[in-house]
Amino acid sequence: MFALPELPYPKDALAPHVSARTLDVHYEKHHKGYLEKLEKLVRGKPEEKQTLEELIRSAHGPIFDDAAQVWNHNFLWRSMRPRGGGKPEGHVRGVLDDAFGSVDEFKRSFAEAANEHFGSGWVWLVKDARGRLGIHNTPNAENPLQGNNVPLLTLDVWEHAYYLDYQSERDRYVRGFLDHLLNWDCIAENLEAARVGTHRASSSVEEETR
Ligand code: FE
Repeated sequence: MFALPELPYPKDALAPHVSARTLDVHYEKHHKGYLEKLEKLVRGKPEEKQTLEELIRSAHGPIFDDAAQVWNHNFLWRSMRPRGGGKPEGHVRGVLDDAFGSVDEFKRSFAEAANEHFGSGWVWLVKDARGRLGIHNTPNAENPLQGNNVPLLTLDVWEHAYYLDYQSERDRYVRGFLDHLLNWDCIAENLEAARVGTHRASSSVEEETR
């Protein structure tokens, strides 16, 4: 069956940018809630034997929504870390400079996409099937794996992710993420997984570009 990974840090570790109260509700109620709904929906059905990634690529309706939301939140917790943000060094810095012109320009584009996204959804840094980096917005539970893109980083822009801390000021939440929480190692690890072909989405990427 599906399982929820432990949070990679204590619930108060991202404060004040994401408060302990927000992280508690987000993980215990929303994330766990999607998992419990998914388990109920697939019980006794062939989908019970599938992985989250398989369900994201093949399911529709509520099973897709809950499977994708479980996966998206698993990925979200890894996209943040205490004392993150600022600027990356080394490989990630070079990759972002090549793709966006500079790290500041990447952050500006990511913030713009997050602030302008209408309604609930997600903002992603992805590597597409041709190996190019880009920023994608997805509505509701949708996810880059559906388009065979490799997710490198995400931010949740559903209101439940920030409303307790920032009310309607989504831009302050986004700024706190970029300046203080963004986990550059998440980008590095997903780029490396894509390079060596261990990322599920990347095996087809490498075949297409070979
Ligand atoms: Fe969420």
